[in-house]
Amino acid sequence: MQVIVAKYSGFCPGVMQAEDTILSIKDKTKDKIYVYGYLIHNQTYIDYLSSLGIATIEELEAVEPGSRLVIRTHGIDRTLEEKLKERYHLLDLTCHKVKKIQKIIHSFAQKGYFIVITGKREHPEVKGLVSYAERCTVIEKEAHVSQLIQQLEKEGKESKLSILIISQTTGDRSLFESTIQAFQKASSVHGWTVEVHDSICSITALREREALKNLEKVDVTFVVGDRISSNATKLYNTLRSHSSQVYFISTLEDLKGLNLDFSQWNTVQVVSSSSTPAFVEKSIVSYLEAL
Ligand code: SF4
Repeated sequence: MQVIVAKYSGFCPGVMQAEDTILSIKDKTKDKIYVYGYLIHNQTYIDYLSSLGIATIEELEAVEPGSRLVIRTHGIDRTLEEKLKERYHLLDLTCHKVKKIQKIIHSFAQKGYFIVITGKREHPEVKGLVSYAERCTVIEKEAHVSQLIQQLEKEGKESKLSILIISQTTGDRSLFESTIQAFQKASSVHGWTVEVHDSICSITALREREALKNLEKVDVTFVVGDRISSNATKLYNTLRSHSSQVYFISTLEDLKGLNLDFSQWNTVQVVSSSSTPAFVEKSIVSYLEAL
């Protein structure tokens, strides 16, 4: 079987950097390392870290003061981070792109801007971003945009309002762009100041574009990722909207469990999300190549 692996498949630069740092620290210390929340959204990788003695914890009670505690790639709440600094030996693995957005939000918030974030309210990155704003709303779908604009109009501060529109790094571009358009239209009526910062990480779009291009060349595509990962789910949904021959799998066992008839196909594509470890992708590619 011919296997095409999409360009930019697998760990993004932010996750690669986090992995390199945490593994090199683990090599140099016998101390237990704790990661506060999932380092990345992939259960297989979290289990792998656990096998190396790097524990993922959701509650801090069990972690002794002075322990090494990792802040994951998505970043965390600003106030919580300050508290953790006093109690633990913190290792901040927040992706530098997320850090940059946190700083931008903080700086605009200090100038009195109302912050509009497009993304998923419950996503850890967004929860962290919100903590850098004074006044802020998260837009999850287009229907929320007009509601927010009406609410701001009612508040009667139209002429003074300054707004920053920014996105979750793995956010949806069409939602981001429609939000910008709606606010620009409202600002022309009310005299609001609208600033935009395009914070969508290009790696996910590049990977998606390459995988879409490959659809024409292949018989079937396997998106490899965990369903808890936003970027894996988005990648699958986009490809699936262009072809019915797209499957979502997390592991080689998932692939085998599909019981597909591979004899009907000659060429397959494999594309992994930003949070899919290389060893998972490799096991799937080797299996397919051997068919
Ligand atoms: S997807 Fe982009 S923003 Fe998110 S961790 Fe990776 S490099 Fe950083």
